[in-house]
Amino acid sequence: MKAYIVPNLEKVNSRACTIAAIRVMESCGITAVMPEAMEKEFSSQKILFQSKEQGLKKSDFIVAIGGDGTILHVARDAVSHDLPVLGINAGRVGFLATMEMEETNLIQKIAAGNYKIEERMLIEADVGKEQYWAINEIVLTRGEYSHIVDIDIFCDGKPLYTIRGDGVILSTPTGSTAYAMSAGGPVVDPAIPSIGLSPICPYSLFSRTILFSPERHITLQVSSADPNGDLLLSADGNLGIKVPIKQEILIKRSNKVFRLIRFEGKGFYEVLNQKVMWGGSHK
Ligand code: NAP
Repeated sequence: MKAYIVPNLEKVNSRACTIAAIRVMESCGITAVMPEAMEKEFSSQKILFQSKEQGLKKSDFIVAIGGDGTILHVARDAVSHDLPVLGINAGRVGFLATMEMEETNLIQKIAAGNYKIEERMLIEADVGKEQYWAINEIVLTRGEYSHIVDIDIFCDGKPLYTIRGDGVILSTPTGSTAYAMSAGGPVVDPAIPSIGLSPICPYSLFSRTILFSPERHITLQVSSADPNGDLLLSADGNLGIKVPIKQEILIKRSNKVFRLIRFEGKGFYEVLNQKVMWGGSHK
């Protein structure tokens, strides 16, 4: 079995955690693979250094060591190569992580086949002939210097309403604890497939997130905006594609999935309790 390891060395504990993970892998017969760029940093360890493309092609799973941002970036490569991800939290929250940095011994369970795969739905945006997919969310916003925008929303081709504000977030259940949460959206159990629509800074006293069935097709069209300003489309915080006014953007469930390695015992609500509710109880 081979594991492609991607540490985020900007996180203070990431280096030590990576070395601990590599030692556990060695003890249970998993070959540690890393991108060649990491050779200087980890030359004293027993690691197979390969180009990113070769490493990903030959590996059975990817290990992301860092925070949710790290896991998210690694996940984009994982989806493209159809590999599951094991996230080890060496950051602040690590909501997507399977284990904490002190728990690297759990990697032995993977060698023993004692794990399960959790599938997360993705969404995509069709803009003309181009397609962009996201694990967290697709965002359509006004550019930096432009004015308020009006975005017409259609569901399965039927007009729904017009959002007036800075933009709109279309989120997956995975993304419900990210940007969509900051915009007032609900936390969505990943076992409930859905597409969330949350306005960004709406110019309204009455504006809520709408959760759509994942089979709905949602169309966005900017009907009015500063003609000299930019409208930007992003996926998981990346891209920044300029979109012309009146361009139709179709949002729908993607046929790609993001796969996470999970162990028995720690479910979504334990993580929510420990990491988001700070272990809060009603007692
Ligand atoms: P970033 O702006 O450097 O960090 C975004 C923050 O979101 C980090 O604290 C990250 O956690 C957290 N995060 C990312 N995905 C998450 C998830 N699924 N559940 C819970 N927390 C999550 O950007 P980045 O690290 O490249 O991540 C891109 C994401 O940033 C976007 O997909 C978007 O969701 C989010 N974002 C949020 C806001 C906002 O809340 N106002 C604004 C823009 C973008 P870690 O600290 O553990 O890495």
